[in-house]
Amino acid sequence: MEKRDYYEVLGVEKSASQDEIKSAFRKLAKKYHPDVSKEEDAESKFKEVQEAYAVLSDEEKRRQYDQFGHAAFQGGGAGGASGFGGFDFSGFDYGDIFDNIFGGMGGFGGGSRANRPTKGNDSLIRMKLSFEEAVYGTKRDISIDIIDKCEECHGKGGFDESTCDKCHGSGTITSEQRTIFGSFLSKSTCTNCNGTGKTYKNKCKHCNGSGRIKTKKTLEVKVPAGVDNGNRLRLSGKGSAGTNGGPNGDLYIEFTVSDHKFYVRDGDDIYLETPITIAEAILGTKKEIPTLFGNVVLTIPEGSESGDKHRIKGKGIQNDSTHRKGDMYIVLKVVTPKKISKEQKKLIEALRDTGLIDSEIKSFNQFVTDNDK
Ligand SMILES: [Zn+2]
Ligand SMILES: [Zn+2]
Repeated sequence: MEKRDYYEVLGVEKSASQDEIKSAFRKLAKKYHPDVSKEEDAESKFKEVQEAYAVLSDEEKRRQYDQFGHAAFQGGGAGGASGFGGFDFSGFDYGDIFDNIFGGMGGFGGGSRANRPTKGNDSLIRMKLSFEEAVYGTKRDISIDIIDKCEECHGKGGFDESTCDKCHGSGTITSEQRTIFGSFLSKSTCTNCNGTGKTYKNKCKHCNGSGRIKTKKTLEVKVPAGVDNGNRLRLSGKGSAGTNGGPNGDLYIEFTVSDHKFYVRDGDDIYLETPITIAEAILGTKKEIPTLFGNVVLTIPEGSESGDKHRIKGKGIQNDSTHRKGDMYIVLKVVTPKKISKEQKKLIEALRDTGLIDSEIKSFNQFVTDNDK
């Protein structure tokens, strides 16, 4: 694939000022950042934008690019096979820019930002529910493995705190990196304090200095009435512990709901196929119907057929999450008896001979006759 012109990538003029370049980059980086972008190929576009900015924001590299184009950075650099045309971007610090763009998002910006408070990881567990548990809601004790804050050292990792003397408390080490394109400053996480800026005279033995510890936790989960297959319940702050005083992650519970022997669920509505006899279909009847909230009596009119649908309002699922009340639908199925006695057979034959023909059958019979002319 041909490399696009860096000015074109950022959408700026060749004569653009550093401020214009920076502002164009911020706009595009925000648009394509893989953590927030919904665009297709956000990641590759983001990389392209990063690359263009890394070059054009640096006076010296920009001058070389203006003179030689992409050729200026091909073949000579450290990461020749990386697809970035030989220019090594790993040391480039975008942190300050992203701080402003994503203010408070946390976690982004690479090593130089390691001492920022970061939200703990979210956890996902799956829970299997019976049809009834999902419909009425339930309480369940679950046991989960999460990374929790160490109780012994209150998440600090040690005792007798002092400022890290290697980074003087900043958590980052700045070093000058010289390349053939000139030198630039690169920031990396301080290895002495792991970016926290603090060291401890006595390491916490309980968590081995990490401040976090893997724990099995038991939680009581209140499953709201009406959850369905694939629904997720979010328990805020019940995930893993954050770092550097950041908040806990969240715990998500995803539900799988078993089928019911008779009820079929469609959202908050419940369908129930209800078998009736031929006689009930012809003559009509009053039929007792099992609903989620006790039995009710439904009047089935004479002349009913298979597939006839009757709504029983408000007898569907009472959904705690949506506050909607579903309905129940009774779908009739006229069952033809497979085994009948001799006496019944005689009666049915007698019934037939009385001429059990209505207009629908007459009209079809007429079609059969006409078709044969
Ligand atoms: Zn340090
Ligand atoms: Zn500890």
